[in-house]
Amino acid sequence: MSKFISDRFSDLEPYKPGEQTGNTECIKLNTNESPYPPSPKVMEAISLQEVEKLNLYPDYSGINLRKKIAKLYNVSYENIVIGNGSDEVLSMIFMAFFDHKSTVVFPEISYDFYKVFSQLYGIKYMEMPMNGDFSISFKDYLGINKDIILANPNAPTGIYLSLENIERIISSNPENLVVIDEAYIDYGGESAYKLIDKYDNLLVVQTFSKSRSLAGARLGFAIGNRELIRDLNMIRFSMNPYNVNRLTLIAGESSIDDNEYYMKNCKEVMETRSFVTEKLRSMGFQVIDSMTNFVFAKIKALEGKILYEELKKRGILVRRYDKELISNYLRITIGTKEQMEIFLQRIREILKLKV
Ligand code: PMP
Repeated sequence: MSKFISDRFSDLEPYKPGEQTGNTECIKLNTNESPYPPSPKVMEAISLQEVEKLNLYPDYSGINLRKKIAKLYNVSYENIVIGNGSDEVLSMIFMAFFDHKSTVVFPEISYDFYKVFSQLYGIKYMEMPMNGDFSISFKDYLGINKDIILANPNAPTGIYLSLENIERIISSNPENLVVIDEAYIDYGGESAYKLIDKYDNLLVVQTFSKSRSLAGARLGFAIGNRELIRDLNMIRFSMNPYNVNRLTLIAGESSIDDNEYYMKNCKEVMETRSFVTEKLRSMGFQVIDSMTNFVFAKIKALEGKILYEELKKRGILVRRYDKELISNYLRITIGTKEQMEIFLQRIREILKLKV
């Protein structure tokens, strides 16, 4: 740290993203990207003509994209704010709605960025204990009079909380904001966006990074009532009105035009997820039932760190965590069926060698 760093950040522990590797030989199952390319419509839309326009700023209102997202969810464009990945949208939410007077609550095992944003913006936070099987006890969140952020389905566990229970949490905390981070909702869950007219304290955050194969383009959005979205746009215009670049706006719009392509890919991922879950269980793994594009698994016979390293040696990257409670688990992104067959083969080899 230089002597110039603000005192505010002396204890900041930044987010640690999963490794990115230039090695195209490796099977990358560590950052929950889609194994499928963007739709052919996206490739067509990002033409040389559009690249030639990169001397011009993008449309800061993002109106065409917001209208397309709105149509897909049967809401108004005034209910949508867009960002440079949902990480940026989450960051804007923390900045806009939480302050030193707030306490934001999230599960003790969840997306690490919630803690990072709390530290970044000087917001008190509380990590809510979970059940022994890592499920969230929704009752713990009823009427707690604190702001809440929940990833649903949760990450890295993959566990989904029913919309019914999500609604109970929202309705019992009317004076506090409830943020539902739905990065993985397209893999079998039911979105809470349907509740935005009923509750003025709800924000739903989604991303184009997973189910819509645009992790590299950086595009995320929030759905909420007009007042909340107006507040978020105020923050966006005070920070970076051009936060979504020209090519990403186009990619986002054309990916919505080909919604079927993505829904078909999600179905495929869900089928492969069942296949992988079953195979891992038959080898002795404990695998949590997942509603996402990854599975969270461990095997008693082998430490998570060793399994992670053995897989890496064999050209397969998965994600592991140092946090004690989950240090033996691996988070494995669901790739194509072919990739997962190779993954399972490598697991078999490792188990034969090490167990
Ligand atoms: N929320 C959750 C729960 C995630 O796992 C991720 C992906 N790391 C994000 C948000 C952020 O995704 P992105 O910024 O790519 O939209």
